[in-house]
Amino acid sequence: MQKKIDILSLADQELQTELFSLGFEKYRSKQIREWLWKHAVRSFELMSNLSKEHRTKLSDYFYIPTIELDKKQTSNDGTVKFRFKLYDGKLIESVLIPVEDKERYTVCVSSQAGCSLTCSFCATGKMGLLRQLSVSEIFDQYILVNEECKSRYGKNLSNIVFMGMGEPLLNYKNVLGSIQRLSSEDGPNLSSKRITISTAGISKIIKKLADDNPNVNLALSLHAANDEKRSEMMPINETNSISSLMESLKYFSKHSTGKISFEYIAFEHFNDYASDAKNLVKLCSHFPVIVNVIEFNPVTGVDYEKSSEERINAFARMVRESGVMITIRRSRGKDIDAACGQLANRV
Ligand code: SF4
Repeated sequence: MQKKIDILSLADQELQTELFSLGFEKYRSKQIREWLWKHAVRSFELMSNLSKEHRTKLSDYFYIPTIELDKKQTSNDGTVKFRFKLYDGKLIESVLIPVEDKERYTVCVSSQAGCSLTCSFCATGKMGLLRQLSVSEIFDQYILVNEECKSRYGKNLSNIVFMGMGEPLLNYKNVLGSIQRLSSEDGPNLSSKRITISTAGISKIIKKLADDNPNVNLALSLHAANDEKRSEMMPINETNSISSLMESLKYFSKHSTGKISFEYIAFEHFNDYASDAKNLVKLCSHFPVIVNVIEFNPVTGVDYEKSSEERINAFARMVRESGVMITIRRSRGKDIDAACGQLANRV
């Protein structure tokens, strides 16, 4: 018997060609595309404007890969963490982060199962890279978390950040493919302004992103403002130094309408000194940027400690007084495994 085709992996034109060869009328392709991406149905049986004969033909020839909820944890602060199982049993995570008074409902999605970058403070980095996620596996995280958001808060998700497991710029094609589906009128029609890609910093691909999709926002996980400290935490810095990243971000800033931010996890007596704040301010002089200082969510087996509130506040004050926009993000979901990779690692 002929091997079935993953229907969600097909580009629109490919789908049309396949359907045409199976004898479907031309207009059926749009109908089926809408079922798959606008209504996000994951069974041919639910495609109610197709005849039984058409639905049978579809399921004889194609399959629809799905992701399944495996575990869910809800924090007292409203943060919900999801562990999803992929068709091959691999586990990934997504997080729903509600900020009700601002009507902001953000989903943090994974772009890879595991990650190859081995940042020393991260639970996902300890897993190694298991595999890339497909366009639909990224897209479906949005759909499933959106359902939870609607039932829990009566609202659709307003923002998506690629800040879960994996380095999105190392699964570039599928991340961009998922963004194209998410922002399409044939899909959830999300504005690019509401989409943020968070990267550990791959200089070359940051420039490519500026050329290919200049409207998304970009968050650089900086975490240290000098190479020595950054390389100690993030081995990727050895081949993508801070100066090369600043050059790429200048390019991004010039060619893109997306906003740039620096993410900076504060570690006690490591990167939270006055000298670190000074170095950080220097890096902020190249282009408009917002700094988000993040409280560390401790991870089992990781030696770094979270900075005390006084040290974080003092650090942020120094940066702010130099004229840089800075926010402090208190860690969410402290009572659940909310740090990236913690829940997927717990099997
Ligand atoms: S912090 Fe991000 S890039 Fe670094 S190991 Fe974890 S998932 Fe990978």
